[in-house]
Amino acid sequence: MLKGKSAIVTGSTSGIGLGVAHTLAAQGVNILFNGFGDANEIETLRKETETKFKVKAAYSNADMSKPDQIRAMIKQAEDTFGQLDILVNNAGIQFTARTEAFPEDKWDSIIAINLSSAFHAIKAALPGMQKRNWGRIINIASAHGLVASAQKIAYVSAKHGIVGMTKVVALENAQQNITCNAICPGWVLTPLVQKQIDDRAKKEGITVEQANKELLSEKEPSQRFTTPEDIGAAIVFLCSEAAINITGIPFPMDGGWTAQ
Ligand code: NAD
Repeated sequence: MLKGKSAIVTGSTSGIGLGVAHTLAAQGVNILFNGFGDANEIETLRKETETKFKVKAAYSNADMSKPDQIRAMIKQAEDTFGQLDILVNNAGIQFTARTEAFPEDKWDSIIAINLSSAFHAIKAALPGMQKRNWGRIINIASAHGLVASAQKIAYVSAKHGIVGMTKVVALENAQQNITCNAICPGWVLTPLVQKQIDDRAKKEGITVEQANKELLSEKEPSQRFTTPEDIGAAIVFLCSEAAINITGIPFPMDGGWTAQ
């Protein structure tokens, strides 16, 4: 169904982005990886993806806080694959502190990477999608795009912002076979969340396993983590023709977190 299409997944050297990239590649989608990491490991990841899934795989080291590098990444995908059909805006970072103590530079970088990067990537990708009359844009927001938690002023602001951005892009392209949706995961056990669990264990003097349980029971009624592959499967559905009339939605995958 998606065989031969091409995708960028930003922040795909780790966590959710990596799982999403592999799930799309398994459907025959060419992948442009992006994100930080060891150059040799990334090259191995790129080659293994080509061999395992029989697709083309490329890599851009674009820094998502730099608009000119984001534009160059979109062009690289169009030049390498001939076209860019699917854009998954996933790269993101976290920092926690109360508002009065929140460092300005952390605010600026979270807004740049978690919010503005999606605007720059979407702006650069849309003309090609509009010309071909087909496109799928998926923004990885968060349960924090719908509800808030203390100590996350920049993250919650960015994620609420990206849910709004999703709606505008959906409306502007509603008659062009281009959909734009946001996925709002609850907890996913990736390095970004592992750090919060480790910090909590240290601060409260409890084991990592206890901190893990506390984190889940505090917010997520299902008491289970969503996996990167679950999110990949949802994205495959949103890219399918059956999902052509689904656009502009925040799609929670949060075990009931935001139902409360
Ligand atoms: P992660 O830390 O495992 O991966 C983040 C990826 O983004 C990495 O590949 C990293 O190299 C890349 N990245 C970071 N800064 C970058 C930059 N300036 N330029 C380019 N790439 C950059 O994190 P994750 O948990 O997989 O998070 C991925 C996305 O999912 C984020 O937007 C996050 O907010 C969102 N999310 C995560 C969870 C969760 O529980 N893990 C829940 C909801 C939403």
